[in-house]
Amino acid sequence: MAVLVIITLLSLLSLGFSSQLRIGGMFEEDDINNKLAFILATQLVNEKNVNSEYNLAPVTVRTSRFNTLQVSQLLCSMFQDGIVGIIGSTSPYTSTHVKSICDVKDIPLLQTQWDILNKNDSLVNLYPHPTELIRCFVDLVKAWGWKSFTILYENDDSLYRITGLLKMYDTTGYTITLRQLQPDGNQRKILLEMKHLGEKHYVIDCSLPLLEEVLKQAQQIGIMTEKYNYIIMNLDMATLELSPYQYGGSNITGVRLINPENTNINLIDIAERLQKLRIKNGFEREAFEYLAVWKLKTQTALIIDAVHLLHETLKELRVSPKLDLGPLYCNNTDSWEKGSSIINYMKAKTLKGITGTIKFDTETGVRREFDLAVVELSVGGLIKVGTWSSKEGLNITRVYSKDENNKYSDENPLQNKMFKIITALTPPYGMLKDVTTALSGNDQYEGYGIDLIEELSQMLNFNYTFVIQEDGSNGNYNKRTKKWDGMIGEVVAGRVDFAIADLTISSEREQFVDFTMPFMNLGISILYRKPEPVPPSLFTFASPFSVEVWILLAVAYFLVSLSFFIMGRLCPSEWTNPYPCVEEPQFLINQYSFRNSLWFTIGSLMQQGTEIAPLGISTRMAAGVWWFFTLILVSSYTANLAAFLTIEELVTPFNDVEELVAQPEIKYGAKAKGATYKFFQDSNYSVYPEIRDYMNNNPEYMTSVNEKGIELAERENYAFFMESTTIEYVIERHCNLTQVGGALDEKGYGIAMQKDSKYRHALTEAILQLQESGKLEDLKRRWWKEKRGAGTCEKRQPVATPLDLQNLGGVFFVMGVGTLFGFIGTFIEVGVHTYRTSHKKRLPFKKEVRKEMKFFLKFKEMAKDVHRQEDTSTFGDVPKNLEKK
Ligand code: GLU
Repeated sequence: MAVLVIITLLSLLSLGFSSQLRIGGMFEEDDINNKLAFILATQLVNEKNVNSEYNLAPVTVRTSRFNTLQVSQLLCSMFQDGIVGIIGSTSPYTSTHVKSICDVKDIPLLQTQWDILNKNDSLVNLYPHPTELIRCFVDLVKAWGWKSFTILYENDDSLYRITGLLKMYDTTGYTITLRQLQPDGNQRKILLEMKHLGEKHYVIDCSLPLLEEVLKQAQQIGIMTEKYNYIIMNLDMATLELSPYQYGGSNITGVRLINPENTNINLIDIAERLQKLRIKNGFEREAFEYLAVWKLKTQTALIIDAVHLLHETLKELRVSPKLDLGPLYCNNTDSWEKGSSIINYMKAKTLKGITGTIKFDTETGVRREFDLAVVELSVGGLIKVGTWSSKEGLNITRVYSKDENNKYSDENPLQNKMFKIITALTPPYGMLKDVTTALSGNDQYEGYGIDLIEELSQMLNFNYTFVIQEDGSNGNYNKRTKKWDGMIGEVVAGRVDFAIADLTISSEREQFVDFTMPFMNLGISILYRKPEPVPPSLFTFASPFSVEVWILLAVAYFLVSLSFFIMGRLCPSEWTNPYPCVEEPQFLINQYSFRNSLWFTIGSLMQQGTEIAPLGISTRMAAGVWWFFTLILVSSYTANLAAFLTIEELVTPFNDVEELVAQPEIKYGAKAKGATYKFFQDSNYSVYPEIRDYMNNNPEYMTSVNEKGIELAERENYAFFMESTTIEYVIERHCNLTQVGGALDEKGYGIAMQKDSKYRHALTEAILQLQESGKLEDLKRRWWKEKRGAGTCEKRQPVATPLDLQNLGGVFFVMGVGTLFGFIGTFIEVGVHTYRTSHKKRLPFKKEVRKEMKFFLKFKEMAKDVHRQEDTSTFGDVPKNLEKK
């Protein structure tokens, strides 16, 4: 009986025990923080579910880092006591062991750190999967517009994590440098090397203690200034003490998985309770570690979420401590019946935790969907600047380089700063002053660019010192070395702040530096010798009239002569008495035979006159009009001939780029490695590919500076492709040179500065103001038209062009209309005369008209019988072919 009572009491006791669900936690010996987080997590769950029929009871074991045997023993002892799941942050050396034992026994294993060997049936891992996580950093690199960056990584695990970033590299796009951080903690050598290589963008993937060291040493070697940018991949970056770097100006961006906005769990409460637990466990000295929510580590949050997830699953699957739990032994093949359904349920579940949405790949149990907060260090500390989610990608809520979040607090970022500005001695943008006294510093230089910087410095209140690009190169990208040379190279390397000269804004340059709005617009054109005068031709006398005018003149001469002949014959007044003393003449004569008509017309055209004088009103009218015509024509001819004889005709061997390329004699080139050369290298339109081949095959015609091209154009038969504004400057001073053809493209010059520069906006605004106030135009006039030998080539050669119908059409018209009126007059005169004769002779009018016409048509007869009958042949000896000599 007594035995029975004892057994009942024991079973009651065991019932009491079985109102708890035991949950295991495996932590390394020194991993107290995570152990405390685990204990707190179970407390939180129990508090939230006070009415539940069971409590979660945490069972923790301390594992040593390398001792797999010890880990297996501890696991097996936990299984013997009956356990619903294990939450672990074990070392990589023992985790494989833990996973395989849990797998065999079907005990859910919830991991909270990333592990390369992730795939196990019993496993769910709350740490975001690296292939998914890296997408966020790829997006950040793209959003920040980095074209070249260095990845500083810690170990092989980091290499696996950054694979996605490495895939961004391609021969035409991103340049990626890879450097492994030193395990001994001295990173200065690597950082100095990168500084000397001019690297400005860094992605760092390493553990927190190492990250602390890297940042500290980066500051020591001077790469924590505004020119440098960092993306930190460690999700706990925010827990670091970053205040030493927040005033340096460098852009430090990171991401955070813990997002207080995503959950209704009170993070402040969690932070405070963790702190209390730490103090209870004798950690007074670091008691402030958890005071701030920012100091909560990702793994702490993941452990809390893991416990929450497991509890929710148990609740939803109605796992009962009494029915479903029992001891499991490692020395047999038994496994937990309920285990696999709990694991599968968890894999399919979605939960909102303090690390945002928790969702797994249902097959592998890795965390695929999650949200991240993008944070950035500003003078006020870390601030959230955007979000990233697996579904929607990156969403930056503040405009980069805009003054919204106190990042750049002053309105004028250039105020009171000192800048190093590079320029080249390219007239008229930058030149050495032409003085005999020795000058130093900025005083040595003058020019358009120098004056423009002075204007800007007065507007924006900054100081500057000029340095000179000795080789005069503006900047060319070497695709092989992936490096810029010239002034652009200096800007990219950060050795200077700005570059000003005839720096053409191009898409290729814009990828690596920022430009202000253009302060000058231009296009490529051709500089060549002025056209040569041609020796006058043998037929210069014909030049005053165009060919059409000459042809029309000949036609007019012939038609007018014919008109005189016709009108002369018709006009009665032109029939005169050959012997004025004979009152009643037998016949009348007419002076307008065809030959005489031609002679009369040419006589007046040549301004000589003839004895032939028109008698009838109509013929006189026609003659008057013809004389008017010849008067205008001859005076126009004389005036224009004078111009042709005094003006030299000039010949240009080519008039545009097509003609230049088509001829073999004239050599041509451009400034080597300049924007003009680049234009022909990249363009496939028109004849540009031919020019590209010519330039590549004839490097001797490419010049290092503009002056050499100008010299060649003056001395040899050479055309120099140059930018129109510079051509304008050159032809003002080199009188034997000129611009041939128009502009081949349209572009502008800008001031170059580092990519994403915060000065760009202010400088652009100031340039626009200078443009609107007319200051830029004034500067241009000063340096192009007034200074340094301008105005020496003012004289313009007058040109004479042949007179064409446009000039003389009116005279032809008047002459034509006048002749027509002459004809009309003639017909009227004939009509009146015939009517009178018919009346006098009492003959019908019609008959008289017919008679007149018949006579008219006998063109050879130039004498008219006064008493003629039907047939003039009956008049006897009337002279047939009477002409006035
Ligand atoms: N402006 C050009 C540049 O920025 C140089 C002169 C040229 O190529 O004609 O490269």
